[in-house]
Amino acid sequence: MTIKVVIVGGGFGGISVAKQLKSSIFDATIVDQTNHHLFQPLLYQVATAALSPGDIAIPIRAVFSKQKNLRVVLGEVTSIESEHNFLTLKDGTQIHFDYLVLAPGAQYNYFGNEAWKKHAPGLKSLSDALEIREQVLLSLEKAEQLPSPEAQKPYLTYVVIGGGPTGVEMAGSIAEIAKRNMMRDFRNLNKENTKIYLIEAADGILNGFPASLSESAFQDLNKMGVEVLLNTAVTGIKETGVQLKDRFIETPNVIWAAGISASPILSTIEEPLDRMGRVKVSRDLSVSKNPNIFVIGDAAYFEDSKGKPLPGIAPVALQQGKFVGKLIKGEAKGTNREAFHYVDKGTMATIGRAKAIADIRGFKLSGFIAWLMWGLIHIFFLIGFRNRFRVFAEWIWHYITFKRGVRLITKKSSEN
Ligand SMILES: Cc1cc2nc3c(=O)[nH]c(=O)nc-3n(C[C@H](O)[C@H](O)[C@H](O)COP(=O)(O)OP(=O)(O)OC[C@H]3O[C@@H](n4cnc5c(N)ncnc54)[C@H](O)[C@@H]3O)c2cc1C
Repeated sequence: MTIKVVIVGGGFGGISVAKQLKSSIFDATIVDQTNHHLFQPLLYQVATAALSPGDIAIPIRAVFSKQKNLRVVLGEVTSIESEHNFLTLKDGTQIHFDYLVLAPGAQYNYFGNEAWKKHAPGLKSLSDALEIREQVLLSLEKAEQLPSPEAQKPYLTYVVIGGGPTGVEMAGSIAEIAKRNMMRDFRNLNKENTKIYLIEAADGILNGFPASLSESAFQDLNKMGVEVLLNTAVTGIKETGVQLKDRFIETPNVIWAAGISASPILSTIEEPLDRMGRVKVSRDLSVSKNPNIFVIGDAAYFEDSKGKPLPGIAPVALQQGKFVGKLIKGEAKGTNREAFHYVDKGTMATIGRAKAIADIRGFKLSGFIAWLMWGLIHIFFLIGFRNRFRVFAEWIWHYITFKRGVRLITKKSSEN
C-alpha cells in the first residue's frame, strides 16, 4: 500500500519535505499556484535589474524530474477539509491525502489599507519584482524627458516602506541604481537630484539584529544617500505619493516592505492562529485536530526552547521541511515522533555593494567580509548549477563594471 503525501507550496519548506520522500512507498504530490520554486532572498535583485527572473527561479518539475514517485500539480488551493483528509483547488478539483504538509508561505499585510497595494506593491513574487523594475525604469525615462529638476523631482524620488531586511536591501539597491550605475546612460539627469527614503515606524531598522549591526546598516545607508526616517508612520498612499503625519512625499515610486501575514488558506483548517495568521503548531509541527497535517515555514507559529517565535526566514522553512519529511518516512517504519528543534546558524542582511551585516551565533560582522559571506551563502542555497553559475557570473560582471544587466521595459507596461 502506498502512502499519499500532499505538499502545498513548492517554496523552501515544501521542496525540502519532498526531497525526503524518495521511497516508492510514498505517492507524493506538490501543489503550487505557480510552476516554479522561487529564491525570494534575491528577488530584490530582479526588481532592481541586477538579475533576470530565470536566474532565481526554477520549474518545480525540473527540481524533481528524477523523483518518479512525485507529481507536480499547478493549482491554487482554496480550502482544506482537515477532518475528511482532502483539499480543494480553485477549479473544484479535490485531492485526498494520508499526510498533508502545508507550506504556503506568507504575503504582504497592508494592515487593512488594501487600496494602498495598487500604488505600493510588495516584493513577493516574480511578477511583483518585474512590476517594480518597470516602475523604476519608467520613472527614469520619464524624468529624462522633463525640462527642469523641479519637474523631474517626483520621478527621481523613491520611497521604501519598512526597515526590515527586504526594505533595507531595496533602498540600498535603488540608491546604487539612482546614484551611480544607471545615471551615466542618461543625458538630462543629475544624480544629486535623486532622493531615496526608507520609512520605518519603529525607532530603528533591522530590528532582529544586535543594535550595533543595525546602527552600522543605518550609517551605511546614510552614506549611500538613503534618508532613513525612523518613528515615522505612513498615513496614506495614493497614485501621486505617500502621506506622512506632517508631510507629503510626491512620487509614483513606492515599495511596500512593511508587514507580513500568513496565507489565507490557513484559516480554512480551523486551528488557532497567531495575530499574523500563522497556525500555532505542536512540538512536532502538526496541528491539534489532525496529527497527519503539518504546517511549516512562514505559515507556522512555533516557539523555540526560550519561548521566542521562530522568524520567517528560509533556514527555518528548510529545517522544518526536512524534519517533517523524515518524520513521515520514520512513521512509515514504525518510529515514534520527536519534537522539532531549530538550529540557528545566524542571520545576515545586505545593504549594498560590499556592505552587509551578519550575526553568526553572537559573532558580529559588517562590511566587505560579511558581504562576501552573504554572497557565497546565497549562491550555495540557490537550486540548480545553471542558476548558481549565472548569478555568480552576473555578480562578478556587475562588481567590475558597475553595470546592471537587465534594464528592459516591456511594451505592455510602458503603454499603461
Ligand atoms: C523579498 C524577500 C526577501 C527575503 N530575504 C530573505 C533572506 O535574505 N534570508 C532568509 O532567510 N529569508 C528571506 N526571506 C524569507 C524567506 O524567503 C521565507 O522565509 C521562505 O521563503 C519561507 O519558505 P516557505 O516554504 O514557508 O514559503 P515560500 O518560499 O514563500 O513558498 C510558498 C509557496 O506556496 C505557494 N502557495 C502559496 N499559496 C498557495 C495556494 N493557495 N495554493 C498553492 N500554492 C500556494 C507559493 O506560490 C510558493 O511557491 C525573504 C522573503 C522575501 C519576500
